[in-house]
Parts: sequence; structure tokens; C-alpha cells
Amino acid sequence: MDFDLTDEHRLLEQSVREWAGREVAPRIRELDRTHTFDRRLLPQMASLGLLGISVPEQYGGSGMDYLSLGLACEELEYVDTSLRVILSVHVGLNSLTLLSWGTEDQKARYLVPQAQGERIATFGLTEPAAGSDARGIQTVAVKNGDRYVITGEKMWISLADVADHVLVFAWTDQVKKKERDPSGMSAFIVERSFPGFSSGTLTEKWGILAGNTGFLKLDEVEVPEENLVGREGEGFKIAMFALDQGRFTVAAGATGLIRACRDASVAYAKQRKTFGVEIGSHQLVKEMIAAMESDYQAARLLWLRSGWLKNAGRRNTRETGLAKWFATSASERAAGDAVEIHGANGYSDEYPVGRFYRNCKGAVIYEGTREIHKIMQADYLLGYREDRPSRCELPAVERLP
Ligand SMILES: Cc1cc2nc3c(=O)[nH]c(=O)nc-3n(C[C@H](O)[C@H](O)[C@H](O)COP(=O)(O)OP(=O)(O)OC[C@H]3O[C@@H](n4cnc5c(N)ncnc54)[C@H](O)[C@@H]3O)c2cc1C
Repeated sequence: MDFDLTDEHRLLEQSVREWAGREVAPRIRELDRTHTFDRRLLPQMASLGLLGISVPEQYGGSGMDYLSLGLACEELEYVDTSLRVILSVHVGLNSLTLLSWGTEDQKARYLVPQAQGERIATFGLTEPAAGSDARGIQTVAVKNGDRYVITGEKMWISLADVADHVLVFAWTDQVKKKERDPSGMSAFIVERSFPGFSSGTLTEKWGILAGNTGFLKLDEVEVPEENLVGREGEGFKIAMFALDQGRFTVAAGATGLIRACRDASVAYAKQRKTFGVEIGSHQLVKEMIAAMESDYQAARLLWLRSGWLKNAGRRNTRETGLAKWFATSASERAAGDAVEIHGANGYSDEYPVGRFYRNCKGAVIYEGTREIHKIMQADYLLGYREDRPSRCELPAVERLP
């Protein structure tokens, strides 16, 4: 493994850093305070190539490798989690899934406009009564001629009120639904414009306030059979595949959040004095800052390894899960300590660390809670779980930078 980033990677890192620092950082406090998702950022992200990053050029994307996707996520979350969430759902969970599992017709109709940022996409798995337990979803899709009629409700969906297309998971086999046999689940592309589709925003959320999170209602939504992704019965596998890509973006993003906590803490520790000295010269403060650095470097190595495996077209569920679990847990430690280092000022939104503290918790919960990831890692070690090759895998990167 080569630990050096290429010039192309550095350039991307630099341009995302400059854009987010210039266009979002000065306004993020206000966007967060007013719970505003700023749609005007989407065309700007599209013109930077971010909305089609890691999607091959033949499908309208930027054709960058998977490390580039991680680097962009790290830089975006350095400024605010809401920016990284856009890449997580639009690119990680949705577009890369269509790239691997979609038909050529689906790629032409959905992946290309998504990669070009003309359409925004998200991922609809979670429901009011089923999150970790994805087999517990209640949404059903009933075949009727050349269409599927989908009825159900999705909850806690990022970009629920923003996205044009949603990858929706539903039971197509009612017997298997009763038996909780995941081979009875299927995946569909559902457009916002389909009759019977509606959405709303969750207004009581207390983190990622500059992001949009909501619910979807599917009231006998007729979906043409051409919008079935993969084969009937492959929905659960597709959801797990999508999470391999989404978790990668979450891991890289949480790593950016640790760096943001570290930088804010270092700056404050050099400026604030107690007992006649900068607080940075107190050993217990140094300890917290040093831990942020070790967590940052370790989290970064873990997501880089996962991206490197993706570039090589190798299975990475185990490594990506570990990267996501470690980075999000470490980001929670870093944000807690950053608030502590800021004293009472950390308890106020005048400083960014309070926002980091609120934002980091979401990532510990979504895309597999901490507990689910612990179980996964232990099960690999105990031999209770192994990854079998999937019918469709993420394509290796042909032209590495
Ligand atoms: C900000 C935000 C954005 C989100 N965006 C999306 C999105 O775009 N699309 C989408 O589909 N979903 C999304 N989610 C939903 C998210 O994926 C779920 O919240 C998550 O999977 C956890 O499910 P749950 O909330 O139902 O918790 P539960 O599954 O009910 O878990 C509750 C608690 O029980 C624990 N637990 C559950 N099962 C076990 C077990 N077997 N062993 C040990 N402990 C267990 C959990 O770890 C947790 O601590 C989002 C959530 C948030 C907060």
C-alpha cells in the first residue's frame, strides 16, 4: 500500500477545502441555528464534480477513484456534517449502488443525471419500527402487470424533502416477509413525481441541523418494473452492498470531524489562559489533544485501507465496518473533549465545537449503530459470519490516479 496521495488527490483535497471554507464555513453557524438546508450548495458541489465523484465518466461522473470520495468526505465534514451527508446518500448509498446493480437503462435514466447533479438521490431503508433490524421493515411491493404497487413508510431519511429519486426497499414475497427471510425483499428506484409519494422534514432533530432529514410516505405508488434494481429477492443484498459504500463515506467524514475538533482545540488551548499560563500547557489538556491526534491518524488509516481495497475491486465489508465504527466512536470522544477544552464557551454555539458534539452522535447511530458494528466484528473473529461474493461488486478503478 502506498501511503502517499497523488497530485490529483491533493488537488481535489485542496479544492474541496477551499470551496467549503469559502462558501459554507462563514455561514454554517447561521444555517445550523436556523435549521436551513441550503439547496444552492448543490449546483456548486456539482460543478466541482462532487456529485458524480467515483462514478465513471461514461455515466456522467468525474471518474475519480474511491480514495477521492473519502478525501472529499473528510474535507466536507471538517466544515459541517450536513455537507458530507449529501455525498453519503447521493453517491455512496445510491449512485454507486446503481453503478454496480443497475441496468444500462437505469444508469442512463437515473445514474447519469445524478452524477451530473441534475437530480439528487437518497436511500430509503429505515422505517418507524425497523432500523438495525432491517428484516423488520413493513413496506410491501405487490406486482400488478408490468408495475409494482408499493405501500409503506420510511423514517429518518436524509434529504427526504430534497431528493428526486429514492432507492426504496420493500417485501415482494409476503410469505418470506412473515418468515423474515431476506430473500423476499427487493429494491426499487422511486421518483418523487410518482403519484402517491410524499415526504416531510423531521423538525425536532437536534443535530446536523443544516441538513435535511425526514420521512417518506408511499401510498400505493405504482413503480414500473424497469425500476426494479437487481433481481426480485435481491433487495437485502443490495441494501448491505449500499451500506458498504455509505459506511465508507461516514468513516472518512467522521475522520474530518476529529480533525476539526483537534484544530479548534489547539487554537483555543493557545489562546485561553488559566493560572497565568495557556491552558495548552496543562498536562490534562495536552492529553486530550494528543488523543485527538492519535484517533485522527488511526481513523484515517482505516478508511484509507478500505478505499484502497475498493480501488482494487476487493471485498471490504469487514474493513469498512471497522473504519466506520472506529472513526465515529473516536469522533464522539474528540467532540466531547473539544467541548471540555473550551470550558463554558464549548457549551455555547458561539464556538463550533458544540455543533461538532451534536453532529457526531448521528454518525454513531446511522449506517449500523456502534453495537451492530461491535457484533459484526466479533462475529467475524468468532467465525459466526463470513462474507460471500456478491453477484455484483463495486467495479475496481481502471485508471488509478
Ligand atoms: C441523522 C440520521 C440520518 C439518517 N439517514 C438515513 C437514511 O438516509 N436512510 C435510511 O434508511 N436510514 C437513515 N437513518 C436511520 C438509521 O440508519 C437508523 O436510525 C439506525 O440504523 C438505527 O436504527 P434505529 O434508530 O431504529 O435504532 P434500533 O435499531 O431500534 O436500535 C436501538 C438501540 O438498540 C441497539 N440494538 C439493536 N439491535 C441490537 C442487537 N441485536 N444487539 C445489541 N444492540 C442492539 C442499537 O444499537 C441501539 O442502541 C438515519 C438516522 C439518523 C439519526
